[in-house]
Amino acid sequence: MADNETITRLKLLSSHSEAGNVRTFVFDTGGLTWTAGQAQAYTLPYLGEKEEDNQRWFTIASAPSEGEIHISTRISQSKFKQALSEMEVGDVIETHGLEGEFTWEEGSPERVVLVAGGIGITPFRSILKSRLSVGKRVDATLLYFNCDKDVPFQEELEAIRATHEELEIQIVIGEAVTADAILERAPQSALQVVYLSGPEPMVEKVGSELRDRGVRIKQDWFPGYDEKTY
Ligand SMILES: Cc1cc2nc3c(=O)[nH]c(=O)nc-3n(C[C@H](O)[C@H](O)[C@H](O)COP(=O)(O)OP(=O)(O)OC[C@H]3O[C@@H](n4cnc5c(N)ncnc54)[C@H](O)[C@@H]3O)c2cc1C
Repeated sequence: MADNETITRLKLLSSHSEAGNVRTFVFDTGGLTWTAGQAQAYTLPYLGEKEEDNQRWFTIASAPSEGEIHISTRISQSKFKQALSEMEVGDVIETHGLEGEFTWEEGSPERVVLVAGGIGITPFRSILKSRLSVGKRVDATLLYFNCDKDVPFQEELEAIRATHEELEIQIVIGEAVTADAILERAPQSALQVVYLSGPEPMVEKVGSELRDRGVRIKQDWFPGYDEKTY
């Protein structure tokens, strides 16, 4: 594996619309290996003088077994996203800083709860694909809150559910993500660990509410999104 400050150049292989304003960009791996759920920084050089113009962090939405690096993101008006969506096949993006603890804990309790706020679904796609590719079970309830009916990966998730009875998926549209909304849907038996991924303000608020109620949280938060844009 490359040192996490080493810069790796990834070539764009393709891109496609996922749902609504979410687009997936497919890159070669550049020789990188990763653990499902990890993220890294992506740099488009020369967009502007400031790092905030040139660089964003994205979770790798694909599993290592897919042999490609996928990033899935909502295309906003920001300079970075506009330039990303204009990339052509063969163009290169630079990455570094691969890291993250938002990965599946082996030896997890019998059932866990996975909570995604909108685009916060990306690490869960990677984790699910990764476990299933090696024949492992996913004993989990996935509560997937999305801001509207354009739900990224909905068909793919439903196809997984159809062949893996142990995985329960509830898709919730247009409802605020709160501790109450989670607790009323999650089976009590699965509430020992909640994996929570989504916009930073949502994860901070809901994470602290759940901790106050004695639930152990693993969390991943995305800056740049809020309770309206998730
Ligand atoms: C560990 C980690 C993992 C992450 N994983 C993902 C992931 O898998 N997918 C994902 O989408 N994000 C992920 N993020 C968040 C990501 O890095 C960005 O912060 C996020 O996508 C928002 O970027 P943006 O360029 O759209 O908005 P930002 O530039 O951060 O701006 C925030 C808001 O301002 C608006 N805005 C910005 N510039 C302009 C402009 N020039 N004109 C008008 N409006 C503007 C945008 O529309 C946006 O609503 C992750 C972050 C971390 C730290």
